[in-house]
Amino acid sequence: MILTLKAHASQNEIKQVVNKIKELGFTAHISKGEIKTIIGVIGEKAITTRGIFESIPAVETITPISKPYKLCSREFKKENSTVKISDKVTVGSKKIVVIAGPCSVESRERTIDVAQKVKKYGACCLRGGAFKPRTSPYAFQGLGEEGLKYLREAKIATGLPVVTEIMSPETLELVSEYADVLQIGARNMQNYDLLKEVGSINKPVLLKRGLSATVEELLMSAEYIMSKGNYNVILCERGIRTYETATRFTLDLNAVPVIKHHSHLPVIVDPSHGVGVRRYIPAMALAAVAAGADGLIIEVHSKPEEALCDGAQSLLPEQFSQLMKTIKKVAEAVGRTA
Ligand code: PEP
Ligand code: MN
Repeated sequence: MILTLKAHASQNEIKQVVNKIKELGFTAHISKGEIKTIIGVIGEKAITTRGIFESIPAVETITPISKPYKLCSREFKKENSTVKISDKVTVGSKKIVVIAGPCSVESRERTIDVAQKVKKYGACCLRGGAFKPRTSPYAFQGLGEEGLKYLREAKIATGLPVVTEIMSPETLELVSEYADVLQIGARNMQNYDLLKEVGSINKPVLLKRGLSATVEELLMSAEYIMSKGNYNVILCERGIRTYETATRFTLDLNAVPVIKHHSHLPVIVDPSHGVGVRRYIPAMALAAVAAGADGLIIEVHSKPEEALCDGAQSLLPEQFSQLMKTIKKVAEAVGRTA
């Protein structure tokens, strides 16, 4: 439930409310506005203690949150949230954030080469996996720490912040040393230990929707991260399993307006995995921007035929360059920039 305190409540009054919340075994999430302070009382059956808070004079109104997810819901926060990745890059602002790069980090030279190209054509973050969640245990699993080092070199060469996947709670310290954004892959969307771990630090998290997860399940996973104190969550629609086989997955662009309706968190779209076929990716990237996405994450490779992972869905740098030009036009048409 949400407690709205009366205008200009004093520090002492806020403290009194927070202490009561803690005493009852719940957590308090404070959002301080210029005039009013809003406090989320988070915990199972928090609403049953409504009467206790009604008797505190500093509390003006009490609003229940009807959704199972609380902190990420629009009911908790009406305004859109933004997530700052670097001094230059904020997801959820007017500018569409385009993250681009290879599926996996394969070598030092190729990573730097692709990074320089996507930067030249307008990407504002570099993507690349050093720890890869592969369906087959015999497929390339990523270069691990060596790959993280190449990403760092590419960052130094281009100035692009790095988005890279974390697969296990044990690697939090290692991966966060190199990553500007921690990506939680589709296959780990419901790895609750991992979610809690990335919730314990303040780094931005890119949370991808599971292959067969509903929007509500995605939001529940975001809630895991936020409930641990990390509010820097970016949601990502990356395609879901359907009966259709013409594409690798079915990009569920419905999810963009649906998530925007129910949550204040920024949403980006991954047309590369969502479609899985190079030739269809530009159309869906543009559609995502038109649907209201705050950004895109796109796989780009300078020699896709040699890629160790996802070559068939990687755009050539020149195709990415062309796409960026059109993204700018679509962005403008919907009141954004790119
Ligand atoms: C990726 O981004 O390369 C990836 C593995 O994505 P997903 O988790 O969405 O399959
Ligand atoms: Mn990939």
